[in-house]
Amino acid sequence: MKRRSLPLSYCAVLILLGLLLTERASFAANPRIGVLIFDYTNNYVTYIRNSITQVAGDNAEILMIDAQNDQAKQVEQVDTVISRGVDALAVNAVSPEAAPTIIEKARAADLPIVFFNRSPSKEDMLSYEKCWYVGTTPYDSGRLSSEMAMAAFKADPKYDKNKDGVLQYLILKGTPGHPDAEARTIAVQETFAKAGFKAELLDIQTGNFRTADAKDVTDAWIGRFGDKIEMILSNNDAMLLGAVESLRGAGYLSADKPCGVIGINALPEVLTMIEDGTVIGSILSDAYSEGKNIFTMSYNAVKGQDVLTGVDGKLDDMKALRVPYIPIDKSNIPLAQEVYKYALGK
Ligand code: CA
Repeated sequence: MKRRSLPLSYCAVLILLGLLLTERASFAANPRIGVLIFDYTNNYVTYIRNSITQVAGDNAEILMIDAQNDQAKQVEQVDTVISRGVDALAVNAVSPEAAPTIIEKARAADLPIVFFNRSPSKEDMLSYEKCWYVGTTPYDSGRLSSEMAMAAFKADPKYDKNKDGVLQYLILKGTPGHPDAEARTIAVQETFAKAGFKAELLDIQTGNFRTADAKDVTDAWIGRFGDKIEMILSNNDAMLLGAVESLRGAGYLSADKPCGVIGINALPEVLTMIEDGTVIGSILSDAYSEGKNIFTMSYNAVKGQDVLTGVDGKLDDMKALRVPYIPIDKSNIPLAQEVYKYALGK
């Protein structure tokens, strides 16, 4: 018995020593990552920021800076964080056109760089070996919202108010020229067409991704189309909130005046509207997974390991990792709540 217990206690001591040394080693080698944000006031990017901080925990030092939507300021901030000895850059560019300038600064300092949320061009991405991107495929969110509309229209006869078998609908478009606004708006129409679904687009107007603008647009639509409106598909949830406010004010979204509303983002305030049946659903942009992947890929790059270590998914032909959108309706609200639990930093 004694001969067996002695080596065991040696083992325990060795394991303990090993753990202590590993702890010290990892602490000493903690990467410092410069995270440059285009604008702290943007809600969605704030969820990504919180996720990066949450996931980093004690494994890295995060230097985060707000460019306040000023590209010139952000370029200076790249110099600032490099001079503070960061090991990697994670950049949410104010303008994708500034990517070559930022890439050159990273290259000169031999630093890996992970762009996110606003995509540089493929050419810029391929110009530097230590450059990656984390984002989404905007077209998919439009396609998924369109699929949600078709499913709701088929499942519930209340949406076909004039009983003609055709969906009369409106698109609340984001800021014209913004890649998300263009891709989502086209995707909705193409998805209906490809499915052979009978849909009549009454109008497209821009709400500039803003609640107040979308409310004004919807007010005007109600005056112009009234009960002809069977569904509104919004390019984002901020505009959905404006549409809901307008519709409610005119007595819609009630049992005798139904109107389908579908958004994109699945923001926490919209989840409660999905739960109580005010809106059909929304397409979740998974801010938590985006933040997690941004941090993990930056960390891996610093450690000199495969950037996809511990990451779900593959890189596309421009070294971009696309985080999938998740359709959220009454059946899977807890899934979205789980994402926000982390993204809200709770
Ligand atoms: Ca109809």
